[in-house]
Amino acid sequence: MKKGHTTVWKNCLKIIKDNVPSISFKTWFEPIVPVRLVDNVLTIQVPSPFFYEYLEEQYIDILKKTLRKELGQNARLEYSVVMENNSHSQNKPYTVKFPAKNQSTLKNKLVSVPMENTGNIIKNPFIIPGIKKLHVNPQLNEAYSFNNFVEGECNRLARSAGFAVGNNPGGTAFNPFFIYGDSGLGKTHLAQAIGIQVKEARPEKIVLYVTANLFQTQFVESIRNNTKNDFLHFYQMIDVLIIDDVQEFAGKEKTQDTFFHIFNHLHQNGKQLILTSDKAPVELQGLEQRLLSRFKWGLAADLQSPDLETRIAILNKKIYNDGIEIDPSVVEYIATHIKTNVRELEGALISLLAQSTLNKKEITIDLAREMIDKLVKNSYHEISINHIQKVVCEYYKIPLDMIQSKTRKREIVQARQIAMYFSKSLTKSSLATIGAKIGGKDHATVLHACKTVNNLIDTDKRFRMQVHELEKKLKI
Ligand code: ADP
Ligand code: MG
Repeated sequence: MKKGHTTVWKNCLKIIKDNVPSISFKTWFEPIVPVRLVDNVLTIQVPSPFFYEYLEEQYIDILKKTLRKELGQNARLEYSVVMENNSHSQNKPYTVKFPAKNQSTLKNKLVSVPMENTGNIIKNPFIIPGIKKLHVNPQLNEAYSFNNFVEGECNRLARSAGFAVGNNPGGTAFNPFFIYGDSGLGKTHLAQAIGIQVKEARPEKIVLYVTANLFQTQFVESIRNNTKNDFLHFYQMIDVLIIDDVQEFAGKEKTQDTFFHIFNHLHQNGKQLILTSDKAPVELQGLEQRLLSRFKWGLAADLQSPDLETRIAILNKKIYNDGIEIDPSVVEYIATHIKTNVRELEGALISLLAQSTLNKKEITIDLAREMIDKLVKNSYHEISINHIQKVVCEYYKIPLDMIQSKTRKREIVQARQIAMYFSKSLTKSSLATIGAKIGGKDHATVLHACKTVNNLIDTDKRFRMQVHELEKKLKI
């Protein structure tokens, strides 16, 4: 009697199960549904176009082997790709969205794959000769390498742990590796350095750097385009996933939920996660508890402001890399006057160079002084919601946790509203993010706070004065 599609597929799965890791089996084989067997052509249904591509890239050989064992040398495999939201996209060409830079098109819903013999002898089903890995552009910037990352007291732990992760992704206790610290202290640089290190030592690893914001945008788009499965499958096959600025997930529950699943999948699979944030996991507001607890599984390492010696070393590195010459006394002058933030340190060096080239002036201490004076006067620090809360609380002499609590006491409510108002006017954060970071409020509450403060500024002279004073303090 001839075997039916269910039996054939079941038999294939038995062999496959013994040959692929169980997590991969769950992810990539369990969702497959056998649909029919006509002559020697088995049709299997896969949940998304990306899924089909991934199977083709990673598992075609084992599929081929098992299917031939079942159906003989003429066996063929056809995929029926489920298009999400069928009614709209049935006849449209389908574009695989992830990764954005490597788009390929599936013209038909049914994809037929001839399984001609390539003549390759397959020694190991996991290392498939002649089949290229899915190409993912890791989005890494060569400039952000470990070579260019100056070590100092301020970053020693984070740097050496990061280095260990780079050499053995997924194989250290530092998973996830969580890097936190204020803006401009090198979080992005360090996270990227790890990615670069992995790529150098193990080019076959799929590395991806993505900002939390981009992740969120892609996620929202995938919902809109009915490609959420593709989105998930894409992220589930990354070996080293770097998510920058995870504090941006605050208040975005659906994104967090999806990230939680991706996180679990990768972690269970021994894949490396690297996360950065402007706050320690315990201080992250607006993030779900279950996500925060995951963040604490590995190592959280912070970056501090560099000391003078490190600041000088950083400047010298940049100067050397750019092939320019600057008198050491000028370097020291800059490093002495710009203390907190490496980004500003670099900014100062760049404006100094620009000044000297444009005005054809020599780079002297005087020029540096002129420039730094201007820089300090003209540029505001990047202001964070945290910083705003701190300053507002100091000003009204209330403890920081009060402003984040649910209390309805009048003076606390007002301080909270002012903090929300400044967060809206002085940062680029969304209403939802601001609300999440200030006591877990929703966007409507923040909007209401901004209106209330604006009204009071118009009507209450004393209030207006306080707001002006606060604004001055915030912009120092
Ligand atoms: P963050 O992500 O923490 O805001 P970045 O990683 O963007 O900070 O760093 C800001 C700038 O400072 C970058 O140009 C980076 O190369 C530089 N930088 C930070 N730390 C170091 C360091 N230890 N050595 C060399 N350059 C650094
Ligand atoms: Mg950054």
